[in-house]
Amino acid sequence: MKSDLANFMELNPYSKKCKPDLIDLKGMELGELQNFCEKFGEPNFRGKQLFDWIYNIDEISFDRMMNLPGSFRQNLMRVAKVGRFASADIQESIDGTEKYSWVLADSSIVESVRIPMIHAGNIKRWSICISTQVGCAMGCKFCLTGKMGFVRQLTSGEIVEQFLAAKRRLGENDRFHNIVFMGMGEPLDNFEEMKKAAQILTDPGFEGVAKKRLTVSTVGISNKIKDFLKSIPDVGLAISLHASDDFTRSKLVPVNKKWNLSSLITICRNLSSKDIKRITFEYVLLKGVNDSEKDANELVRILNGIRTKINLIPWNEFQGVNFKSPDEKNVEKFQKILKKNGFVTTVRKSKGADISAACGQLADISILKNGTN
Ligand code: SF4
Repeated sequence: MKSDLANFMELNPYSKKCKPDLIDLKGMELGELQNFCEKFGEPNFRGKQLFDWIYNIDEISFDRMMNLPGSFRQNLMRVAKVGRFASADIQESIDGTEKYSWVLADSSIVESVRIPMIHAGNIKRWSICISTQVGCAMGCKFCLTGKMGFVRQLTSGEIVEQFLAAKRRLGENDRFHNIVFMGMGEPLDNFEEMKKAAQILTDPGFEGVAKKRLTVSTVGISNKIKDFLKSIPDVGLAISLHASDDFTRSKLVPVNKKWNLSSLITICRNLSSKDIKRITFEYVLLKGVNDSEKDANELVRILNGIRTKINLIPWNEFQGVNFKSPDEKNVEKFQKILKKNGFVTTVRKSKGADISAACGQLADISILKNGTN
């Protein structure tokens, strides 16, 4: 007769990629946990109980999950675990931002950033920027993660654990108000794991955030954008443009050679009005590269008819990347042109630059090769 573990390994599609040791339940969304329980002959509602223990109560010991039957807890101890990061290096910025460098089970390092927002009454609101890969294959020229290259995909459990681990550091009056998948990695390049993590973090039964308060950032993997909008309803998508012509964009964002501006813009132009409201365009302003009035006017021309938000990100200089910050007056002129042409345009103030936590600064420095763009 086969053991419970052998049966489960056959039945669980996710187990194929695991070694036949303990299965990490962190990262399973509610439906998977319900299926998991049913495989052990347990009623479906045990899945919700496990979901609460893992994500809301943040428990890792099956021994302490007292509303589960003893025999089921024994089975869980034999075949499963609830993963948690072992340790983190934490850096605090003068502006209140915190950067966490989590050490994963295989000693890889992945980073997340907690950023202060405008507080509401006595409630302190925070945004958290989460990574979806160790390193990144996209190689954007202004980004230290891109310079690391791709190391490996994060599991859904490792993506969710970044949120839970940071939540453990919150005080009684602190709340996460927003989650952004804008840390290390290209989220759409790790689609299935990212999708599960998004489902868990916005599940109505989880004390995470509302769907509209999660934003996933993409450099513009055109063939995954429709899948995203269809399979992860109501979650926001930030598309990085960073240039208004293909020549400049290909230099900054090499994947533009495969998925160029016109393919991106065509997709956006054909979206329903409901979906277009979920899109934000991101544009990093780099001095002398993409910050001129001509660039702004060209951006207006290519986005003509697409009524969505544009988020300008003035570049912050740092060692290892040879771009310069734009002059303030150029940022103002750029924003003015976009606004004059009817685009809701915001300018994002970078936070955490003093601890290398700002846009483009996340990286495992032990992997970074010397050299610049
Ligand atoms: S900007 Fe984003 S997509 Fe580009 S290399 Fe950095 S992490 Fe990857």
